[in-house]
Amino acid sequence: MFRIRQDHLRDHLPDRHALIRCLTRLGRGALTALFPDKCLVCGAYIRCLHDLAPVSDNLEALFESTLARVVCSKCLEQGFTPVLPPLCTCCGKPFLSRAGENHLCFDCIKAAQTGRFMVGRARAFAAHDLLLRDLVHLFKYGKKICLARPLGRLMFHAFMRHFACSAIDLVLPVPLHTRRLRQRGFNQAYLLVRDFPSMWKQAVKHPPGWTISNTILLRSRNTPSQTGFDRKNRLKNLRGAFTVRGTEKIEGRRILLIDDVFTTGATSGEAALTLFKAGALSVDLLVLARA
Ligand SMILES: [Zn+2]
Ligand SMILES: [Zn+2]
Repeated sequence: MFRIRQDHLRDHLPDRHALIRCLTRLGRGALTALFPDKCLVCGAYIRCLHDLAPVSDNLEALFESTLARVVCSKCLEQGFTPVLPPLCTCCGKPFLSRAGENHLCFDCIKAAQTGRFMVGRARAFAAHDLLLRDLVHLFKYGKKICLARPLGRLMFHAFMRHFACSAIDLVLPVPLHTRRLRQRGFNQAYLLVRDFPSMWKQAVKHPPGWTISNTILLRSRNTPSQTGFDRKNRLKNLRGAFTVRGTEKIEGRRILLIDDVFTTGATSGEAALTLFKAGALSVDLLVLARA
């Protein structure tokens, strides 16, 4: 008879994390074999056993591994257009020339001259084109809520890139009017940002210094859809559309607004104006895609 010493046994056990990884992969493999997922774009069956690329990884690897469980490899080939510097320091528009530093674009210089209100810094993960455009459409209008997590993960990459070192107190998803919220059933901006705290804790290993709230900034007027309006009419359409509940929660705070798509900046500009009137110190904007 012999006794196995516990430390001896421990030495011969595989690394705990490697074991968990292996079991997860096996479990995922069995689930995929039994219930294969379908591509949200074309409906083809997907067999994805790849691990997620870390958020800090290169953009292509991040995009493909994040979406590989909801989009087939053929549809993934459509790809996306990352927003890379040099950018406009204000609206975040990428310049056609790939050389040089970030600087103000012509539109933002004109906006400053005419007194048109904009957020301090607007940044996006990618352009609103190719596969990303289809996915945003499926998410928002096709009610494919399962896209919230992968699309939010892509947006978190842009957050880490542009705002991780910025002082932010409050993260506010651009709100929908109650009637629109009831029709759609969800606020796409909130769903995109909902997992940011857990992703932050995983990436940074300490709790974030900011909080997310969807009860402070409200949409008080149900404005008609902005689609099809030019910038001037969008601004007119939005005037007085937002209100703040509890100005003491905004006073002196540095705010990051969250939206799915940046088109003309009219919506975020109006929301920022409302927040500044309530005493906000700064208002920036992060979106998934910019048109
Ligand atoms: Zn497909
Ligand atoms: Zn600009």
